[in-house]
Amino acid sequence: MTLKAAIARNPQNTGTGEYNALKYAMSWIAWPFLFMTCLGATAYGFSIKDPAYMPYLCFNLSYLFLIVSLLWLERFMPHERNWYKADGQTWANIAHTLTSKGTSQILLMVNTYIGANMLTGGSSGLLGIQIWPSEWSLTAQVVLAVIVSEFMLYWAHRTAHEFMPLWRFHAIHHSVEKLWIVNTGRFHFIDSLYSIVLGILPLLALGASMEVVMWLGVVTAFIGMLTHCNVEMRFGILSWVFNTPELHRWHHSKVLREGNTNYGENIMLWDHVFRTFFHEDRRPPVNIGITEHMPVKFTQQLVWPFLKEERRKAIGAAHKESVRISVGKGDPLQAAE
Ligand SMILES: [Zn+2]
Repeated sequence: MTLKAAIARNPQNTGTGEYNALKYAMSWIAWPFLFMTCLGATAYGFSIKDPAYMPYLCFNLSYLFLIVSLLWLERFMPHERNWYKADGQTWANIAHTLTSKGTSQILLMVNTYIGANMLTGGSSGLLGIQIWPSEWSLTAQVVLAVIVSEFMLYWAHRTAHEFMPLWRFHAIHHSVEKLWIVNTGRFHFIDSLYSIVLGILPLLALGASMEVVMWLGVVTAFIGMLTHCNVEMRFGILSWVFNTPELHRWHHSKVLREGNTNYGENIMLWDHVFRTFFHEDRRPPVNIGITEHMPVKFTQQLVWPFLKEERRKAIGAAHKESVRISVGKGDPLQAAE
């Protein structure tokens, strides 16, 4: 099969007609290259513990490198050109990122200084016996940590979709109508807290070291950023193992059969086990979001999950009315839809 035919056959092709050999090769290489480069650079920082800020410096530089690379790739080889359009949510996305990350940082600090020892009885875990295999290599411990914590993260995410009081918080994340790296951290801080506590708890209970817990945070940060990017990438077998953008786009579908799937945060193991893995050989939906209306402002989004149903419906009705009026006035954006 010629390269041109291979590109045309791929259901992920955006059909923009701009694909060439370079972009095709990059679409295969981008995800593993960025992920491994960032992991490698962070591991280098962890290997040089003197001065003590080196792990943090290397992690943050890697994170910055990832952000800049993905912002460029989103322009150079986008998955969906329609997602270029401004959605008026950039500042709300950033505000949610800062509040949810801030909450988790505070939690980690409290946990480090008082919580972990109280909870786990020092390094020996909740049961007072050393269950965690601390004698394993760090790499093996991190792989185990990802597998163990993913079980809890899977259920935290799945219950956030299937249990209505939790869904209202998680709906903030799903209310966006386009995916790009700026909405990676768009989580209501309570939604964020819920999954972080559940994800870390088994590691602390089993007596994993803080270094292992931090590495779990590193892996989650890199994969999370990659998962939401609007870059045309191809994965093959990688999508059976990791949570990739092509899988996560299904998760943001408005169709329940497609959206209530692929709950894994980093890996897809538990989706395979509990049969929620979803990946069809066609292009994931462009028209993503939720069926209810979400207020536009960050502060309103923070209180939205606490509102009674009538109040949330009233906000939705007011929004529909404002859209109707703006279409009536000939708003080109709305009229085109
Ligand atoms: Zn979700």
